[in-house]
Amino acid sequence: MLLARGTALGLLPLLAASTTPGFAQAATEKEPAALAGYSTAASAAERGWESKFRALPSTDNLREYMRHLSARPHNVGSPYDKENAEWILAHFKEWGLDAEIETFYVLFPTPRERALELVAPTTFKAKLQEPPVAVDPTSNQQSEQLPTYNAYSIDGDVTAPLVYVNQGVRSDYEQLDRMGISVKGAIVIARYGGAWRGIKPKVAAEHGAVGCIIYSDPRDDGYSVGDTFPNGAYRPQDGVQRGAVTDTLYEGDPLTPGYGSTKDAKRLPIKDNPLITKIPVLPISYGDAQPLLAAIGGQAVPPAWRGGLPITYHVGPGPAKVHLRVESNWDIKPIYDVIARIPGSEFPGQWILRGNHHDAWVNGAEDPISGQVALLEEARSMGELVKQGWRPKRTIIFCAWDGEEPGLLGSTEWVETHQDELRKKAVMYVNSDSNGRGFLGVEGSHTLEHFINGVMRDVPDPETKLSVWKRSQLRAIANARNESRRQELRSRGDLHIEALGSGSDYTPFLDFAGIASMNLGFYGESGGGIYHSVYDDFYWYTHFGDTDFVYGRALAQVSGTALMRMADAELLPFGFHDFADTVHSYVGELKDYLKAQQTDVEETNKELDEGVFTAVVDPKKSSIPPPRKAVPPYLNFAPLENADAALTASALRYTRALSLAQGAGEFDPQPVARINELLIESERKLTTQAGLPGRPWFKHQIYAPGAYTGYGVKTLPAVREAMEQDKWKEADDQIPLVAKVLEDEAALIEQATSLLEASSKTASAK
Ligand SMILES: [Zn+2]
Repeated sequence: MLLARGTALGLLPLLAASTTPGFAQAATEKEPAALAGYSTAASAAERGWESKFRALPSTDNLREYMRHLSARPHNVGSPYDKENAEWILAHFKEWGLDAEIETFYVLFPTPRERALELVAPTTFKAKLQEPPVAVDPTSNQQSEQLPTYNAYSIDGDVTAPLVYVNQGVRSDYEQLDRMGISVKGAIVIARYGGAWRGIKPKVAAEHGAVGCIIYSDPRDDGYSVGDTFPNGAYRPQDGVQRGAVTDTLYEGDPLTPGYGSTKDAKRLPIKDNPLITKIPVLPISYGDAQPLLAAIGGQAVPPAWRGGLPITYHVGPGPAKVHLRVESNWDIKPIYDVIARIPGSEFPGQWILRGNHHDAWVNGAEDPISGQVALLEEARSMGELVKQGWRPKRTIIFCAWDGEEPGLLGSTEWVETHQDELRKKAVMYVNSDSNGRGFLGVEGSHTLEHFINGVMRDVPDPETKLSVWKRSQLRAIANARNESRRQELRSRGDLHIEALGSGSDYTPFLDFAGIASMNLGFYGESGGGIYHSVYDDFYWYTHFGDTDFVYGRALAQVSGTALMRMADAELLPFGFHDFADTVHSYVGELKDYLKAQQTDVEETNKELDEGVFTAVVDPKKSSIPPPRKAVPPYLNFAPLENADAALTASALRYTRALSLAQGAGEFDPQPVARINELLIESERKLTTQAGLPGRPWFKHQIYAPGAYTGYGVKTLPAVREAMEQDKWKEADDQIPLVAKVLEDEAALIEQATSLLEASSKTASAK
């Protein structure tokens, strides 16, 4: 379900410059520095195995796997979904991995009735159909295609005036309030974008709407951006984005929050389930949307709300009136997770996990198969290394998830089922979901930032022959806002990785179980508009995606190198200086936000007194001044600032101790075993049992998907979201709780540091 990303890799000012040379430099340097967490001898051996590994992934294999896995629609509950799971299982076994299918039973609604028609002032019946395209051989598999719909929309039959709400996020409704427009009793039509689609019906219902239509505007992924399919990569006029529209309270099967949906699990009733929308929702194409939008009258929309259709966009309500009917089959369906292991030789109870989903909305060549095929080549190549004598120190587990599209079902149910074991054993989870051409996008836990930068320096970009890292750094320089930022980027620290929100299978690992996680994928040079439509298929991908699969190979190389390097390290290569630095910036953002809010509210109230809002608008147009608000109170950030300082100090101490230990050239295994246990625990320490206020399933206190953004991350979410929702008392109450989490993390780092310092003394005494 991952949406095309807009990640920008930036740079953080670092306490210590990276010790790993860039790829280009590495080629000319005689002796590269030992890998972090490796003794000199072990590092050389590891580098040898890693380069053997990187030579193995084959673009021909990637293409053939994709051809097979995307040959037919393979949504949850379809015959081909099960067939694919069995095909993946057979391949894992053939490559020598210890593999099995784990089955769960989940609520998966499929469409029974869908109707949308304009009933006034003229009439029009929406097609709700994606027609076959002659040159595209799988676009005609209509009997197997899931019709266009939004899964987990409540059943409903409503007729009401239409209101255009732009992207349908909360700020759009503030704007509507200023225009004097209410959506109470109306059906809203929102364009895709701005937030995860599930937010749109949620916010619409909160404002009293009775129905919600979501459409793909050509401005966002259609002809305004590029040529449309099949002449180009972008969305044709009948292309529709399917997708789930649950609430954001928790992930996974709506009927089994927090525990696995095994066959006999206790289930919540479907009726009044908190994840199911409050109003009916249906996604449509711009072909179907245009007559509806053209029939809306009233005020013209604000400039930023204009789409790419050749009409004047109006807000309404009416005179356009529409009839919307949605009804689903509310069935429980089996889902098939394929899990394959390479057992660890020294620490089998420490797990390095790698996942990508295999289910799609339709044929899903890009989403998810372009990522899945990379995972498969990683597994095959590692199976090959095992035959050559390589044994990972830690257990590597490959996971081909089912049921990601409806709501991260396969991964969440698996994590919930195995949560106790995972909390003890999981070291790291690496996710991908789809892959294209361009730059490596990395989002993840900042304790892994330094580590993944090292991996990126060792993998070549397939088209420019720079390292993946170098290419990202140069682009960051090209996009830099000012000289000081360019300076920073050139002074060679690590490239900054973005924090994880939600939208793919890393969410249960990171947010529920507190496992250090990363999401990887190349993007930026193969855009398109076939997301979640029947046109996301082998024909599209081999004409407009990573057509020769060289970036698929690069993804396998980056991800596989990361798995091996983490699996074989003597001392786990977690780092804390990037993490502390990032948390410091988050604390600063909270303080800045409060200040900006206070200034804004004071200014607005002053302008209300002066009559600014009524004076500057056209008196013949309706415009309502913003509401007067109380100025936000000062908050006591001191506990957070003290915790931030403690974290920074402990991180600095750890970095120094690590560099000393590394300099000694070998590690004393006994203290290192205890340090590794602490490092594994370090991400768990960032969670609380109670979780976030109102969202207890989300336990991580540094990262969470926003309750009103879905994909977009909220950092230090307990405090930030309270502030953004004007809950100042709650924000003040949460600050010491979040501070305690950071203090505990700092204490853990201190403990690891003391052990590391002691071990260096032992090593140098030998
Ligand atoms: Zn996906």
